[in-house]
Amino acid sequence: MQTHAIGIHMHGGPEQLQWEPRELSSPGPGEVLLRHSAVGLNYIDTYHRSGLYPLSLPSGLGTEAAGQVLEVGEGVRDFRRGDRVAYASGPLGAYAEARLMPAAHLVKLPDAIDERSAAAMMLQGMTVEYLIRRSYRVQAGETVLLHAAAGGVGLIATQWLKYLGVTVIGTVGSAAKAELARAHGCDHLIDYRRENVAERVRALTGGRGVPVVYDGVGRDTFAASLDSLAPRGLLVSFGNASGAVDAFAPGLLAAKGSLYLTRPRLGDYIATREELLASAAALFEVVRAGAVRIGIGQTYALRDAAQAHRDLEARRTTGSTLLLP
Ligand code: NDP
Repeated sequence: MQTHAIGIHMHGGPEQLQWEPRELSSPGPGEVLLRHSAVGLNYIDTYHRSGLYPLSLPSGLGTEAAGQVLEVGEGVRDFRRGDRVAYASGPLGAYAEARLMPAAHLVKLPDAIDERSAAAMMLQGMTVEYLIRRSYRVQAGETVLLHAAAGGVGLIATQWLKYLGVTVIGTVGSAAKAELARAHGCDHLIDYRRENVAERVRALTGGRGVPVVYDGVGRDTFAASLDSLAPRGLLVSFGNASGAVDAFAPGLLAAKGSLYLTRPRLGDYIATREELLASAAALFEVVRAGAVRIGIGQTYALRDAAQAHRDLEARRTTGSTLLLP
């Protein structure tokens, strides 16, 4: 089958993304051939492209997409031609019109979930699932700090936290993003380009600080995140949108009040088929129930993925972003 995909031959800027023809064979044992209807853009794609997370090159790019099964390989029992599926793990290469994919990473879509929404929610939504239910189990009545509240992870997390009865303090980089996060339920907004985050968090929590901070921004917010925690609080540092956090001495955690730090990855929370299906089911359920709306902030043609990378890194996007084949 003749098709197209985006590949990279060198690490670097968005200009490294190349639109290339690809010849796909029939699926091998345990594989399926998929036609993508939508591809999810994620911040991790920029780390793979830049080399912050080094790849063996040349490589495909992208970890998330949704589409239909065209053909199944030997031994594939759970899927058949015509099934609507999505994924957010497995080998890179989601930036493609069609691809071969190990069936073990696929999740069947319930009728209530359309393919575009699925491509916009799987990676960011399952991330939110493990962040708020498993890396730290947030309780109703707690107040938490969530950075980049108007982003892809941010808007899903805000809504899911509100559904659980949590008060959300969100940070954002502009007044327009503050409005958007507020419209998704965020209780208190801090513009971290202008305001002192830890001071605002202390003021909002009667001086105590929060039990957990969700920080996908990384280097720029690390210090403020620690300073916003209550004694024995947990910093969940789950991303590097502003760059990777610098090395530090563990004594810092003692000095700030016997704090905890975790640096989780989605892959470790959906490592088994059971965990993957449970995480996806929990996500689909909050979406089906109307508690979490999946906001597709912008779409691009798949072949224009370089522009999508530029906009994501320049903080011009909100919510989830789709690349359309
Ligand atoms: P977002 O849509 O949240 O985009 C990133 C946002 O970060 C920007 O819109 C911007 O919002 C904010 N930001 C703050 N400082 C910077 C900066 N210097 N450069 C660029 N952006 C900045 O992306 P995603 O939802 O895809 O991902 C959010 C974070 O979560 C990323 O760090 C990602 O790597 C991480 N992640 C981690 C996972 C894990 O399992 N560990 C899984 C999924 C995502 P603003 O303008 O409001 O500041």
